[in-house]
Amino acid sequence: MAFDIVIVGGGLSGLALAAELAQAEFSKLRVLVLEQRKSYVRDRTWSYWKTPHNAAHRYSHLERQQWSQWCVRQGVSTHQQASPTVTKDGEDGKATCYCTLDGDAFYSAAQSAIAKSGHVELRLGTSVRQIVGGDTPSVETSEGEVIQAAWVFDARPPIQTNENRLVQQFLGREITTNSDVFDPTMVELMHFQPSTAGLHFFYVLPYSPRNALIETTWISPASVKPDFDTELQQFIASFVGSAAYEVVYEEKGSLNLSLSHTTPNHALHVARLGRGAGTLRASTGYAFLETLAHSAQIAMSLKSHAGTGDLKNWIPAAFKRHAIDEWMDTVFLTVLERDWSRSSWYFMQLFERLDAETMVAFLSGKASWRQRLLVTRALPTLPFSAQALSLLFKRASKLSGVSH
Ligand SMILES: Cc1cc2nc3c(=O)[nH]c(=O)nc-3n(C[C@H](O)[C@H](O)[C@H](O)COP(=O)(O)OP(=O)(O)OC[C@H]3O[C@@H](n4cnc5c(N)ncnc54)[C@H](O)[C@@H]3O)c2cc1C
Repeated sequence: MAFDIVIVGGGLSGLALAAELAQAEFSKLRVLVLEQRKSYVRDRTWSYWKTPHNAAHRYSHLERQQWSQWCVRQGVSTHQQASPTVTKDGEDGKATCYCTLDGDAFYSAAQSAIAKSGHVELRLGTSVRQIVGGDTPSVETSEGEVIQAAWVFDARPPIQTNENRLVQQFLGREITTNSDVFDPTMVELMHFQPSTAGLHFFYVLPYSPRNALIETTWISPASVKPDFDTELQQFIASFVGSAAYEVVYEEKGSLNLSLSHTTPNHALHVARLGRGAGTLRASTGYAFLETLAHSAQIAMSLKSHAGTGDLKNWIPAAFKRHAIDEWMDTVFLTVLERDWSRSSWYFMQLFERLDAETMVAFLSGKASWRQRLLVTRALPTLPFSAQALSLLFKRASKLSGVSH
């Protein structure tokens, strides 16, 4: 059976695009989502920076919590920041905040938009074996069914096995305690534990005085295999002190941060979505808002074609990040990798020297030129400028090599 659009992988990016296409204006299209999992449960907690400059997203009403204060810690040092209220455009009270949204809330909302549409189908428990590009691309399921489409979106995460690749690995547990332990007004973004093997920190999202998500996170080469369970148990024990606690939810992940992760579309009429399209920011591991924005851009670019029934000449919007931000991330991560023992100190310097507005703009990928300059100036000149020059030199040699 032929479809207009087949989306392979119904995680964040696949469901987000399917929910965009479930809108009535696309009702002439036949859309199919193939997802290998059999059902959706809460398997991740999406956190992100919301600023007055971010586009509003369609799942904002599902946010579980917002915070307007955050801190970073190392040993006895703490740098605390509070949300800057932006009034430039006269929108008083639209302040920056750190927000969180539970995975199951997103999955349910997207599934219900799909179910109501009548023209988008979500098939769970279906694993795709291969995608073949061409004038009429097709996907083959592991049961051997071949499905054709005008366009296929590949939302499967890219697989890389190189042990030197940079990864962000983490284990998080949401706990409830029998007495007040947490300050629900303050997110502990990074509580650093300096190490020579990678950048290691704990993260505390306090939902209430007796309820928080606590994570242990490592940014390191994939060959580093931390004992997540023990370190998280010890941190929680020291944090809650004499209070008794119960684990109510657990999540874990390993995200590939390797810098050349933005891969081109791999075949004719096959476009990448999600992490494979480069939505994951290398220096932070964040992808949520970028993924939603990319889905909305694709839907927007489809609007003019949806009525014609001919999608062959349509080119879906590709995910794009500003080249200067990609380059700054490359420089930043390469310097961290050179000497992991100093990596937490660089972050502490940034939080100490930059105001909250600049820091959030940098972390959320929305920094202006002026703010990018402030970030550069807040970092130690020698290692960062040496690395920046070395990367420029490498790129220039590569380009001149190509032209000969
Ligand atoms: C535990 C966790 C916490 C995270 N927290 C944050 C956060 O706080 N903030 C943030 O911005 N980002 C976060 N991220 C990063 C990023 O936002 C998520 O990884 C996000 O889910 C990426 O979306 P995606 O669509 O690329 O991949 P996924 O959501 O992983 O979707 C890929 C889908 O493809 C399916 N699939 C794979 N292979 C096949 C196949 N052969 N056939 C059919 N289906 C297939 C998978 O089952 C999956 O559903 C987190 C990631 C994890 C793992």
